[in-house]
Amino acid sequence: MILLNPGPVNVSDRVRDALTRPDLCHREPEFSALQDSVRQKLLAVYALPSDQYASVMLTGSGTAAVEAMVISFIPSSGKLLVLSNGVYGERIAAMAKVHGIPFVEVKHEWGQELDRHKIEEVLKRDGTITHIAVIHHETTTGRLNDLRMVGKLARDYVKVLLVDGVSSFAGEELNFEAWNIGAVAATANKCLHGIPGISFVVAHRELLAQNNVPARSVYLNLRAYYREQERGSTPFTQTVQVLYALDEALKEFQEQGGWTARHKRYRELAEQVRKGAQQLGIRMYLEEGLLSSTLTAFRLPHGMSYQTLHDHVKRAGFVIYAGQGEAGKVMFRIANMGEIDKGDLDRLFAAMQAIV
Ligand SMILES: *Cc1c(COP(=O)(O)O)cnc(C)c1O
Repeated sequence: MILLNPGPVNVSDRVRDALTRPDLCHREPEFSALQDSVRQKLLAVYALPSDQYASVMLTGSGTAAVEAMVISFIPSSGKLLVLSNGVYGERIAAMAKVHGIPFVEVKHEWGQELDRHKIEEVLKRDGTITHIAVIHHETTTGRLNDLRMVGKLARDYVKVLLVDGVSSFAGEELNFEAWNIGAVAATANKCLHGIPGISFVVAHRELLAQNNVPARSVYLNLRAYYREQERGSTPFTQTVQVLYALDEALKEFQEQGGWTARHKRYRELAEQVRKGAQQLGIRMYLEEGLLSSTLTAFRLPHGMSYQTLHDHVKRAGFVIYAGQGEAGKVMFRIANMGEIDKGDLDRLFAAMQAIV
């Protein structure tokens, strides 16, 4: 089955085979070496210097890393500005809410470009804001948010920038220095082509070493993971086999030319998807502005339900993805991450042609 959903993605045989390596206890030096090596490789994705940045891994899906990031860096006296224009931005606001973290949300329509003026107004008006959270690629609609712009605001107003990069890390440009990024949360099983089960946060060491932030969770306390992982340990059981696979996926990623090569490949595949749909008269959901390289949202053809389209292409060996919430009635999505190629997409559109 070819997976055109935004994670988990199809993986290569070498990554899948890594799952069958020997059993290993997470308290043994072999595990420690594996963990060190993966943490280092995660920094290498964007060539980050290890004296300034560190990666911290946890067992859980992407949401675990996002939630850990949101609750681990903001002191009791702090306040979070959440920028939302889709499901995942709104989810960050929900996280702040359940953890009792003071926050304000600049809420946009799903898919709308972030409104710099509105954001700046809030930053001007509310001097108590200390952190800004934003989604890089808002997978809800395929909108790529302008991190350069948000990063500049964070720099001008001296705020810490927290980024949900779950569906962009390793597939899109992420310029930590120039864009003033404090931390990015991501996962093994989207642009890195690993197996689901491990998520991670890449953060500035200053954030990870803070001691004025209350622990808001026992399991999702990133600073506790940081302390342990820095000395080769881990607070809780890691998903060892998934870590083997992530290590292999990261090797494969570097051998294939790193994020720029992957980005180029995704761009080509996304273009093929967009052209292929256009030829069938299917309209894109977002027509203007920055679009991601990893996923495209489309309007369902007139009179066709998502279920009909989904079931038809599934019989041909493809999984596409529904829109979320109300958008499910009018939208479907095609992601192009993972071990897929041009020929797969040709076959997808041949199958679609028969029904559209
Ligand atoms: C996929 C995704 C998540 C959540 O990931 P899970 O692995 O399902 O927990 C969070 N944010 C974005 C932007 C995503 O695309």
